[in-house]
Amino acid sequence: MTALPDPVERAALQQALQRADTQADLLACSELMSRSGSFELRWPDGVVSLSAGLCALLGLDGEARAAALPQALDSLAWIPVAERRLVARFWQGAVAGEPFEFQHSLLAADGRRLQVLHRGLLQPPLAEGAAPTGVALLHDITGRREAEQRLQALTLRCETTGLSNRHHLLQQLDAVVRNAGWSAQGFSLLSIEVHRIAEVALTIGQAAGDAMAVALAARLRAFAGPDDRIAHLGAGEFALLSRGGAAPDVLALRAQQLRLGLQQPVACGATDIFPQCRIGIARHPGDGDDGLALLRAAQTARLDAPVSGGVAFFQPQSEARALRDLQLEAALRHALARDEFSLVYQPQVSLESGAIVGAEALLRWTSPDWGAVAPAEFVPLAERSGLIAPIGDWVLRQVCGQTVRWRQAGLPRIRIGVNISSVQFQLVDMAASIRGVLRDTGADAAALAIELTESALQQDSERLATTLRALRADGIEIALDDFGTGFSSLSRLRHLPIDLLKVDRSFVSDVTAAPESASVTRSIINLAHGLQIPVLAEGVETAGQLNMLMANGCDRIQGFLFSPPLAADALAALLQAGRRLDGHGGPQPARRRTLLLVDDEPGIVSALKRLFRRDGYRLLSAVSGPEALELLASEPVDVILSDQRMPGMTGVDFLRRTKALYPDTIRMTLSGFTDLQSIIDAVNEGAVYKFLTKPWDDDRLREHVAHAFVQKEMADDNRRLQGQVASANAEQAQLNHRLERLLQRQREQAELMQVSAGGLRELVDRLPTVVLGIDPDGLLAFINQRAADLLPACRTGLGVPPEPPIQQVLDDLRALRRGGDKIGRTVLIDGQIWRAWLRRLEPAGQPDAVGRGDLLVLLPQDDNHA
Ligand code: C2E
Ligand code: CA
Ligand code: CA
Repeated sequence: MTALPDPVERAALQQALQRADTQADLLACSELMSRSGSFELRWPDGVVSLSAGLCALLGLDGEARAAALPQALDSLAWIPVAERRLVARFWQGAVAGEPFEFQHSLLAADGRRLQVLHRGLLQPPLAEGAAPTGVALLHDITGRREAEQRLQALTLRCETTGLSNRHHLLQQLDAVVRNAGWSAQGFSLLSIEVHRIAEVALTIGQAAGDAMAVALAARLRAFAGPDDRIAHLGAGEFALLSRGGAAPDVLALRAQQLRLGLQQPVACGATDIFPQCRIGIARHPGDGDDGLALLRAAQTARLDAPVSGGVAFFQPQSEARALRDLQLEAALRHALARDEFSLVYQPQVSLESGAIVGAEALLRWTSPDWGAVAPAEFVPLAERSGLIAPIGDWVLRQVCGQTVRWRQAGLPRIRIGVNISSVQFQLVDMAASIRGVLRDTGADAAALAIELTESALQQDSERLATTLRALRADGIEIALDDFGTGFSSLSRLRHLPIDLLKVDRSFVSDVTAAPESASVTRSIINLAHGLQIPVLAEGVETAGQLNMLMANGCDRIQGFLFSPPLAADALAALLQAGRRLDGHGGPQPARRRTLLLVDDEPGIVSALKRLFRRDGYRLLSAVSGPEALELLASEPVDVILSDQRMPGMTGVDFLRRTKALYPDTIRMTLSGFTDLQSIIDAVNEGAVYKFLTKPWDDDRLREHVAHAFVQKEMADDNRRLQGQVASANAEQAQLNHRLERLLQRQREQAELMQVSAGGLRELVDRLPTVVLGIDPDGLLAFINQRAADLLPACRTGLGVPPEPPIQQVLDDLRALRRGGDKIGRTVLIDGQIWRAWLRRLEPAGQPDAVGRGDLLVLLPQDDNHA
């Protein structure tokens, strides 16, 4: 559409129309109206003459117009230099009688650049031998072009963030796939989901959601390299197209960096929002042949990453998995209503007493269509779909109901741990929800523990800490699950009320073999103990793991070694039978001093055995380091005497490993003077306590070993004492905590009584009877409203003896009561008939205590007062 002329132009137009008596004038008018102009081209020298309309379009006044006329086509000042050749070319190639058109720019006198549609026609010569003439019509399309460009930008960009939209991304992807230069190198596409944007938009408002999207888009822009392309596909979904075929581990690292950057809190008004972000990665070539396929691959891969945040690559099976996930999710929606869930309970035992002190409730889903589905598979789906909230509520109710039934059956009291997903914490006010369930089921808070994972800690820590403190104040134990797998630092734990740390199975699994993971476990245990937090090791399967955990002061264990998860009844049976961890409980036999001899020469082992038998030690022997380690996994050992030169593993290496696994043992080498340096090193780092030489002096050697045992026993005693002090401290803390709770409950009860006393008073005031309280001194202590209304004699106020007519009734009734505590009579007061009851008040449940006075109740017998 052509824009209407502005007022100035309109005036010029009117003047022109008034003067329009010639054909040229008419042409000028129509050119002005249609924002166009024309020129004539003389053939073959290319000299151009402009129409009045074209001069007006270019803003050329009379003088400039004269200067512009006539000119050669390839030197026209009003065509930008870069485009002059283009215009000349079109005309040079023109064929007489065949119109042509193209677009180019014009430079107006005021510096504006106009876009024109240039239509040209080379007219055949009018007469034989005459030159042809060219006619050009230039139509101003600047406005239309700008509108088109705006529209174009609008259809390719997200209005909120200004990033490319889905449509544009797909175009770019397709172009990149087609472009050999890029695809030779390969490229990757990251599909990024930021979980909380949609939620924020829903709960706080669209503007907040938009602000968050803009903030995250800025982070993405800052992260992207110059060749990367970023897009905002809608709500919380972004994409990053990255050139270069980086190795998967580099790519994964980069994606993790991006994820952590995006997960930084976003200020939203007064609060900080903690976005959660997961990223799926698709690569080309390999994961898709066109833009759409690649985008879908990246989006599918994203579903493999945990909702709480993570990165996943596209795998061929991802697609099948995504399909299965969709179907499972649909089935999951009906699972609660169709009663397809059940719970099993895995016992947790104390390493101090060996007794069952708790159990973890684990959810089981048996679908009629899919069979038993593992929680590792369906819990993430439930989290993704929000179904985790009703399912989690079901688990809590079920567990609480079960603890009540066990309590009623008189089973030993233990705590049941319930897993609470971090998504549940976001969706639900957990403190209110758990309190509600405890109230509804009548369960005891002391019978409940909640297990949360480190991903829950990544969220809004203030809100979380408040929730956890409230729950702990109620007496619920807070356990931190899967510890070691996330990023939470122990120092952060200091600020959160955590009662138990559950060390993840991966740090327990092969502890007897890998000294590094053993030392990680030990560090976790030590640090947790430093914060006064007891530690439970998960997934304990072998006696070797158990021994190592005991040696490192772990407090509790859970795992197949003691028991797999059990049905409720089976756990009840174990509790009833008082089952303990083997070797625990019962009278502890005094342990014999145990000496482990390690030497590859059988002769030496025999000689040493003979020597030490005299001292009454329990003797164990091994011919190599690995064999000795195996022995250590199953037998408690106090002192180790090892050869240095052995095939396979040197004595020093063996003792180093032993130090990591069983730090409390006393380790000594018995060796020739070979590789002295390595032994000195080992002594210095504490792996070797003493270094003794071969050949040995029998008595000196016995003395050294005896001394080592004394050393070991002193250290054991020390540790025991420390343990006792620590557990006494913990008990004290718990006691304080319980006391505090008791006081709090008393305060609440007192408040409740005050409130209910207020209510009672109101009730007594409204009774249709007169109620008078007389204290032990015979003074009026209480008068209800009715008394004040009906009996003028009662209006004297409190703290004074009753007026004579009432005093008379009191005296009469007291005289009649004679020993009994109540009496009823019909009496006359000021000429009115009343039914009167007198009752002695006593402290509740203490009939012999000093009385608290009398209660006089009067009911009018005369209808007028009713
Ligand atoms: P988790 O909380 O770490 O639970 C411990 C898992 O280790 C359980 O797997 C248990 O059966 C398994 N396990 C126990 N002892 C051993 C052992 O000695 N060796 C080995 N290899 N595994 C052992 P399960 O029951 O398959 O549960 C898997 C995860 O699903 C749980 O990990 C928990 O994160 C989640 N989950 C289970 N029930 C619930 C629930 O009610 N709510 C929520 N939100 N999550 C749940
Ligand atoms: Ca757990
Ligand atoms: Ca766990």
